Amino acid sequence: MANSPWKKSTAHSAQNPKSKPVAYPVVPVKLCDHLKNAVPGKLTADQLRKTVGGTLHHCAADAWEAMVDAAQKAGIKLTPTSAGDTYRTLESQTKAFFQRYQLEPTGNPDTRTFEGKKWYLKKGMACLATPGKSQHNMGIAVDVATASGPRLKWMLDNEHLYGFSHEVQSEPWHIRYTQGNQVPPAVVAFVAAKAG
Ligand SMILES: [Zn+2]
Ligand SMILES: [Zn+2]
Repeated sequence: MANSPWKKSTAHSAQNPKSKPVAYPVVPVKLCDHLKNAVPGKLTADQLRKTVGGTLHHCAADAWEAMVDAAQKAGIKLTPTSAGDTYRTLESQTKAFFQRYQLEPTGNPDTRTFEGKKWYLKKGMACLATPGKSQHNMGIAVDVATASGPRLKWMLDNEHLYGFSHEVQSEPWHIRYTQGNQVPPAVVAFVAAKAG
């Protein structure tokens, strides 16, 4: 268990954000067997489940609910920014992509290749993964509302216990379930307790 992913990471320093920028820990995603042949953004009904604030793959939903419960006990409320910021269908990701990116150069260095064309981030828009490339399309990512201050600190201190990790340094709100079949003990315990 030397490389146990739910042991506390020392890669970040949330304690002292003023002295240096916090580096969000990024753990690579392992997919569970249920998602091995999943088509991004086209998950089937048996791969999805309604959960706190939206819809996720059922394994990620277990982990998310366990983490929401633990946060609540610590006085921290975790909710997605919207239901659309949990699982996203390919259609909704594509619609959001077209809202944020355009074919005409904007001068913004953030570009994406989609449908064989180069797309430029519109002014004032937050970046977004190319449709089909987002972990939201796999039902394992959640954008947490107001991920700053004590809430963000709680996430950084605890998300690994529930198999979650950040992904992009510019998105403190975006976390995704990384542990695939290797369900973290805290999630196993939560699911068992819920089942009675
Ligand atoms: Zn699964
Ligand atoms: Zn996200």
